[in-house]
Amino acid sequence: MRLHSRRLDSITYSIREIEDFARNYERKEKLTYLNIGDPVKLGMKTANHVVDAAVMSLKRGNNFYAKSDGADIARESISNFYADRGMHISKDRVYITTGVTEAIRMLYLSIFNRNERIALPRPYYPLYNALSLLYNVKPVYYNFDEEGYPDVNSVRSALKRGAKAIVLINPNNPIGSSLPLSMLDEIKDAVLSKGAILISDEIYSDMTYGQKMNYALAGSEDERIIALNGISKLFRVPGWRIGWAVFGRHPSFKNVIANFRKLLMLRLSSPTPFQYALPQLLKLCTKTYLRDYMTVLNRNSKIVYDKINSTDVLSVNKIHAAYYAFIRMNWKQKSVSFVKDLIRNQGIVTVPGTGFGKEGYFRIVFAGNRRTLSSSLELIIEEASKHRSV
Ligand code: PLP
Repeated sequence: MRLHSRRLDSITYSIREIEDFARNYERKEKLTYLNIGDPVKLGMKTANHVVDAAVMSLKRGNNFYAKSDGADIARESISNFYADRGMHISKDRVYITTGVTEAIRMLYLSIFNRNERIALPRPYYPLYNALSLLYNVKPVYYNFDEEGYPDVNSVRSALKRGAKAIVLINPNNPIGSSLPLSMLDEIKDAVLSKGAILISDEIYSDMTYGQKMNYALAGSEDERIIALNGISKLFRVPGWRIGWAVFGRHPSFKNVIANFRKLLMLRLSSPTPFQYALPQLLKLCTKTYLRDYMTVLNRNSKIVYDKINSTDVLSVNKIHAAYYAFIRMNWKQKSVSFVKDLIRNQGIVTVPGTGFGKEGYFRIVFAGNRRTLSSSLELIIEEASKHRSV
């Protein structure tokens, strides 16, 4: 008798799996891991006042199970977070999850029957593709234009192919683009006029530089839109595992929300101490905090852009948000093979484009120390330059 399930046979997760390969090459000097979007691991420490908010919450005794939907005080603070950004979202439309990761999984189960379709960006954030396979939801893909924005015609054709919902990742991982308002409006029109659901993954919201953040729910609070967000990236606390889903006040969401709430109940609660720290935390998301954080990311994004585009073997688009660069390989080699060469020969760990559904690219994370970043880029260029004459 086979003891294991076959459900996961087709599931891969390159961002982490590449580490298994890298471990074989751990040498005296450590490898540089530019594969996981965790700024803390790259040396961008969590701010002291952020940690203090959690310590205070723990000391106050917030160590019980919170309500499944989320602690009232936390839902209220998220409602205020949106109000500060010009949106009217009542707290009963906010559900707190164990990271955006859990919200995504629960949305798949709440929305889709087997063989229904979801429109995903390509490149995608790998979790969406993996869950589509796991839950037998059929992905149809839309593409990006040369500048790294979703191609609206491609979005329309994905919708025509019968997608019940579409995922927008804005600001985008892995590309680092942030959607201009006119483009967001065009996509919203295309999706909503088809009767489909727009799932807007905004985990990098507020983490923009040089391009304003445009929220999908802004001016559309009553629409068939679900926004996802959380504190992992903005506050550099990915280990706290707090995220949320906000449902637009559209009557057709009634049963989707009922399903979502059932799933919330089945897992009891997301981490209580950190939920109770949220009001304090969101208050700390001040202009100064954001300015300091974005100054570093903006500076690093320019280092990446200038260095990578200084060689003809590699190229990258302008980056406006978050801390990822999706780098094009201007020669023919499988991205997995190049990523393995980079580990073997240069000690740099990145993620192959195929992990995001796109061959001919690899992704780096550029949060963190300027010197490490510059020297890692030199090594990447050195390895890529071996292909100059090919
Ligand atoms: N969505 C996107 C687009 C991400 O890039 C990530 C993490 O890298 C997540 C969701 C997961 O977020 P969380 O830490 O809230 O689960």
